[in-house]
Amino acid sequence: MSHDTMLQRALTRLVDAGKHLNIDPTILEKWEFQAMATLFDNTLERLIEAAEHLDLDPGVLENLKNALEMTQARLTIRMDDGSTKCFMAFRCRYDDSLGPTKGGIRFHPHVDADEVMALALMMTSKCAVMALPFGGAKGGVKVDPRDLSNMERERLSRAYIRAFAHVIGPDRDIPAPDVGTNEKTMAWMMDEYSTIVGKRAPAVITGKPVALGGSLGRDDATARGAYYIMQNKAHTLGLERRARVAIQGFGNAGMHMAQLLDAAGYKIVAASDSKGAVHAPAGFDIGELLAAKRCGSVINMAGSAGVSEIPGDKLVAVDCEVLVMAALENMVHKGNAGSIKAGLIVELANGPVTPEADEILKAMNVVILPDILANAGGVTVSYFEWVQNREGDRWTLDHVHSRLKTAMEKEAEAVWAYARDKNITLRTAAYVLALLRLVHAIY
Ligand code: NAD
Repeated sequence: MSHDTMLQRALTRLVDAGKHLNIDPTILEKWEFQAMATLFDNTLERLIEAAEHLDLDPGVLENLKNALEMTQARLTIRMDDGSTKCFMAFRCRYDDSLGPTKGGIRFHPHVDADEVMALALMMTSKCAVMALPFGGAKGGVKVDPRDLSNMERERLSRAYIRAFAHVIGPDRDIPAPDVGTNEKTMAWMMDEYSTIVGKRAPAVITGKPVALGGSLGRDDATARGAYYIMQNKAHTLGLERRARVAIQGFGNAGMHMAQLLDAAGYKIVAASDSKGAVHAPAGFDIGELLAAKRCGSVINMAGSAGVSEIPGDKLVAVDCEVLVMAALENMVHKGNAGSIKAGLIVELANGPVTPEADEILKAMNVVILPDILANAGGVTVSYFEWVQNREGDRWTLDHVHSRLKTAMEKEAEAVWAYARDKNITLRTAAYVLALLRLVHAIY
């Protein structure tokens, strides 16, 4: 790995030394994990691997190895008890060759510059693979939003926009929700931006409530995009009715995926969130599972007939045909990839499988529906929202669904065909197609 940080190199040496001593293997495993390449390294590695399949002008890759613009700010907000707290915030516009940059804003305690930059690079590839007129961006605040009151979350959201108002804009950079943010966050942010520029500016942000210019169909778009591909390719993927599905990350993307797959006849047999995991070999009653999550966590289902609680990190190893990854990055790694029993992994999350795990899973003939294609339904309907805002139009839900289905099936077909022709993975094919579109825009 060419982008090792000093910390990673030091940790690698520590792990190597530790192997000669009688050190608790779980401690070594933790060090080893931290010594792994960063998310940005992993993302860049995939792009570089794809570039090897093309006769690329080195200048294009040189551009794509470096973010266009990375802004960092300290957000200071007044807490409800009168005290003051500071939070670090980031916005990365990675590349704008294909259009104004687009990417979500994450509120999570693990947010840092590397993660934001990696996710912005992924967004660049995702918009390109979907042929959207957008470049890639991402933003984030290092905070656990669960520790904040509603009023504190609003102050933080407005402070974010005040700090980055000069970076974003309907023709420059358009944020959206991500982990830890939602349509309410987007409403506060749009309102703050509109106040700053002195006019209503709905097209500055997507994922808004429908009443404020949000698009119908945005709420389940990420899951629905992947669902359309799965249904369209069910025969090729060998997916049968009642195929068993395990879902890691029962949040916005994961819950909608569970509902869509359940309605289509799949059997949801395991689900997890940050508090733990539950397993129901005969299948969950989806209504009860959703109700349990609404009351705090899927683990509220534990103890119901046919449901048992399992350790959260064992969810990926559950006996099933489809594993949906809908939580965070680096969840399937070289330490657990070999335990996976599913024949298909659907990456609703960004970067849930590390490159080392990719190699192991390839040898096991596990098919991976890669993030930059699988979860692109979200940004595609965000694009529809931006178009509606600019035109002052309102599309019907049927129109949104029909355009999303057409777009997902068309680009998935292109990825599948390229992968088949070149005998490469769907991931590499998706990155190659993204690069081909970027090349024409960069030079
Ligand atoms: P969310 O915050 O609504 O849900 C995330 C879920 O993951 C939560 O239920 C959380 O409890 C769970 N989780 C966190 N850590 C976990 C762990 N260690 N094990 C199991 N579960 C864990 O976020 P979301 O919007 O659903 O996004 C999920 C993923 O999908 C992220 O990677 C995000 O970048 C990606 N994504 C989301 C969208 C979108 O439109 N929401 C679009 C594209 C990609």
